[in-house]
Order: sequence, then C-alpha cells, then structure tokens
Amino acid sequence: MRQSELFAKTIREAPRDEMSRNAIWLTRAGYVHKEMAGVYSYLPLGLRVIKKIEQIVREAMNRIGGQEVFLSALHPKENWEKTGRWQTMTDLYKIEDESDRELALGATHEEIITPLMATHINSYQDLPFSAYQFQTKFRHELRAKSGLLRGREFIMKDLYSFHRDQTDLDNFYKKVGESYREIFQTVGIGEQTIYTLASGGTFSPYSHEFQTLTPAGEDQIHICAKCHTAINDEIIAKHPTCPKCGGAERTVQTGIEVGNTFQLGDKFSVPFELNYRDETGKMKPVIMGCYGLGISRLMGAIVEVTADEQGLAWPIAVAPFRAHLLSLGSDKDTAVQTQATNIYNQLTKAGIEVLWDDRVVATGVKFTEADLLGLPYRLVVSARTVEKNLVEVKKRTVDEIKLIPSQKLCALIG
Ligand code: ATP
Ligand code: MG
Repeated sequence: MRQSELFAKTIREAPRDEMSRNAIWLTRAGYVHKEMAGVYSYLPLGLRVIKKIEQIVREAMNRIGGQEVFLSALHPKENWEKTGRWQTMTDLYKIEDESDRELALGATHEEIITPLMATHINSYQDLPFSAYQFQTKFRHELRAKSGLLRGREFIMKDLYSFHRDQTDLDNFYKKVGESYREIFQTVGIGEQTIYTLASGGTFSPYSHEFQTLTPAGEDQIHICAKCHTAINDEIIAKHPTCPKCGGAERTVQTGIEVGNTFQLGDKFSVPFELNYRDETGKMKPVIMGCYGLGISRLMGAIVEVTADEQGLAWPIAVAPFRAHLLSLGSDKDTAVQTQATNIYNQLTKAGIEVLWDDRVVATGVKFTEADLLGLPYRLVVSARTVEKNLVEVKKRTVDEIKLIPSQKLCALIG
C-alpha cells in the first residue's frame, strides 16, 4: 500500500487523556481512535494487526478441532436469568428496546451457546466437540484506563468444549493449554507469557491463566523461586507455600491476563438442560469447558512488551506490513522513483506486504514515522543508493543498517 493513500495520520503529541503506553503509541501512530473511555475504533493499520492475530488464533483453534461460529451480540434477558447472572454479573450491559423488552449486550456467551447446543446434542455419539468465535464483548468495566488492555467493548476469542465426562474434558483442556502456548509464542510474546494457577470454581481446584509479565499489568503474580510455579494473587491465601514443590520463597510480578481456561463442569448444562443419552440410555448433563483469549487485549499487551522510546516495534507475525519502504528526495527524481517502484512491485509479487512511504515530505519526518509505525523492516532508497541499485535495510529493533543489492531483498526479508 502507498502511504500517500492512507487516510489515517500520525499524531505528534501524546494524547492528553491517555495514560497507558499501548494507547499512547497506537493512537499516535494512527492505529486506533478513542471514542470514549474503554471504547476504540480500529483504523486500517490497527485492523490489520487484529486480523493477523485472529488468523493465528483461528488456525490454532482449527488444529485442535474447533468449529468456528458467530453468535449473537444481543442476548435475551431470560437466558441470563436462568443462570442467575442477570443479577450477579455486575458489569453486564442491560438495554431496553422500544417494546420495553430487556436485553443484554453479550459480555460472554455461555448463556447463548449452551441452550443452542441443547437443540443439537442428543446422544453420546454427538460428543465431544468444540466451537469458537471471534466477537465483540461488552462489559461495563469500572476502570477502563489501560487502553486496549481493559475495554468496555473489546474483541475476544471464546472457545467452548462439550464432553461426556471429566476425563474427556481433562484431555481437551490440556490440549487448549498447549495450543495457547503456541499462540503466544507465534505472536512474539512467548517468553514473557507464563502459565498461572488461578481460582477454580466449583468443578476444579484451579483455572489457568496466561499472564504476560509487564509493569503495565493489573494482576499480581506470585512465582515460586524454586520451581517457577506461578499463582494469581487472588488465590494465594490458600497457598502459603508452593502447591507443587512446597517452596516458601516467591517473587511477585505484575501481569496482563491475555487468556484463560476454565472447567465449567455442568454449571451451565444443568440450567439449560443440555443433556446427552449414554450407551445405556441414561440421560446425563454434558460436561463443559470454556477458554477465553482477549484479541484486542493481546494487541495491547504486545505493544506493552515491544514498544520503545521511538514508538511501536511489531513482531513480524502480527505486523500490519512486513516492510516499510521509504523513497527519499524529490518526486521528480525519476531514478529513485523507478527503483522504489521496482522494489515495491518485486516485494508485492513475492507476497511480502509492504507499506511504501511515497509522500513528498522531509526525510526526517519519514524516518521518525517509520520508527513510530514500527514495521519490522525499514527499506530506504535515495539518490545515494540508486546508482548501484542498492537498498538500505534496517530492522526496527536493531541499530545496524545493511546495504544490499535490490534483487537480494526478497531472500533477506521474505
Ligand atoms: P479480567 O480478570 O482481566 O477482568 P476476566 O477474568 O474478566 O479478565 P474473561 O471473562 O475470562 O476474563 O475473558 C476472557 C479473556 O478476555 C481474558 O483472559 C482477557 O484476555 C480478555 N478480557 C476480559 N476482559 C477484558 C476487557 N475488559 N478488555 C479487554 N479484554 C478483556
Ligand atoms: Mg473481568
């Protein structure tokens, strides 16, 4: 894409009403636009990041057999009354339509998917399976101050699994944990993201969270000095010593919960009568698990971990474009223009996504914006490089600049 055609502009000054690093950089770089506290619109570059993350997660979910669905965002009140959460879920958005009918804006989807599955599942032969979606969730979060990390409207991937018994759930549950680990590795924050024990609920002693360790996090994570088992602060009182090795020494770090896995047992199948017939003809409640992953929060978490003093610095797998091509000098310099056009076409043809800064603006502006936008490779062509058909290649996160022949570009950055 040519940058001259991109409507989203960068902003020189940090927005006054943003405190978090992710919101400041993403706003300044023209990736998102804040509508109100906790509510953001995604501009072309920001949406490309969201779509990259979604696709990585989609492929991971498909690999473990998940079937993609898209559930409704408007929820009937009756469903939420049936589970009692109309009253107890304090951050549920409740709305009323013109016929005075009360509705909820989907904050999570157990209340939709469980009754839906009750119309499809009859026998043990229908089990197991799992279904997932990407959707906007609405929650009336009181503290929506952390940019994409805590939205009132945010994108989540939610997966639900359906089993005949606990053993089958346990097997699948483990697979999801492994799949999540791969996802966080692929998007570039695997090293900073740790598997953490959290409070369980009625059906299992623990749930599990994936916590990305950064000072921007809201959660306190206690990490055993001996075996590195991590526990969320909220359950720590039950565990004066490490539940795995018995160690008493711990360090505390702050983390962002980017994903979680939860055993639901029959908590939702009972109220919605989601039952199956076993081999002997006996009716039994379906055993469920649910697995959340915050897509927009993950985008914010990646920024918290990777941005530096100059701006964003995307890992390749989630960058909106892999390369940022800067053509310097006047647009009348036909030699530079021709070289830039050739490189642009060559990369595009090779399937390498490139943003071409073809604007007629000062060189300093181009360099500053390239750092702000944070694409993994910066490619510069100028009067200096054109004669020998060379390109200056610089990785966003490395200082070194390499001069390489144009025709070797694809091999180097592809
Ligand atoms: P938290 O403890 O941070 O409020 P949660 O326990 O409410 O999270 P879930 O309801 O299980 O989270 O949602 C699943 C995933 O959705 C979370 O792991 C997180 O990545 C993401 N998520 C939850 N709330 C928000 C929010 N307000 N904004 C952005 N992402 C969120
Ligand atoms: Mg919450």
